[in-house]
Amino acid sequence: MTDRLYSIAIDGPAGAGKSTIARKAAQNLGFVYVDTGAIYRTLAYGIHTAGVSPESEDLQQVLSRFDVRPFWSEDGVQHMILNGEDVTALIRQPHISDLTSKLSAVAAVRDFLLETQRKIACEHSVIMDGRDIGTVVLPNADVKIFLFASAQVRAKRRYLELQQKGIDQTYEDVLREMEERDYRDSHRAVAPLVPAEDAVMIDTSDLDLNQSIETVVQTIRKKIGL
Ligand code: C5P
Repeated sequence: MTDRLYSIAIDGPAGAGKSTIARKAAQNLGFVYVDTGAIYRTLAYGIHTAGVSPESEDLQQVLSRFDVRPFWSEDGVQHMILNGEDVTALIRQPHISDLTSKLSAVAAVRDFLLETQRKIACEHSVIMDGRDIGTVVLPNADVKIFLFASAQVRAKRRYLELQQKGIDQTYEDVLREMEERDYRDSHRAVAPLVPAEDAVMIDTSDLDLNQSIETVVQTIRKKIGL
């Protein structure tokens, strides 16, 4: 291993398998896995509990009230701390997913969280997943990967994940919300979800989890020569 820090950007739509694949790939490479969706979700949760609307004119002033920090437990799991409270278990609720997608279209929100994300990559070798990591957050990343899959496959995966967590939502609702979220994420004016020009495109529709992880790890190792 060298002392050099590596940064790997993994972007793609919800349910493409980014978080599980990126976490396992980070374990394989000994890098820190950074789930930036969780960072956005934490801020959205804070704004929701403060009762502030995403359209509010006060939104920008309100942001400074929130201290959003990730920390990693021994097993590499990312926990989210909001103003000193661990909110990891609270940020995956469907109404928070929806609000996060709305808030993340607001430029002030993205600016507010940009340094939080860049600072992590200055301190660790990272695999960071999100929507604009290769295009905006880490434009000089050593490797950029864009992971995608059909909306139906992604909705099925998310539906099963929610069921396991005991969150009751029909497949049809998950698919509809995912399509709405995809549309908003890729059509917003600020940092839309688009692949970086130099991203490696990986379609996970027909790959199982292990095959997806293997493809991502091999792509990274080949590019950085590790
Ligand atoms: O990845 P996850 O589904 O947890 O992200 C929740 C929402 O946060 C996304 O729908 C997207 O709107 C937003 N997001 C973003 N930029 C990121 C990560 C997430 O806009 N880097």
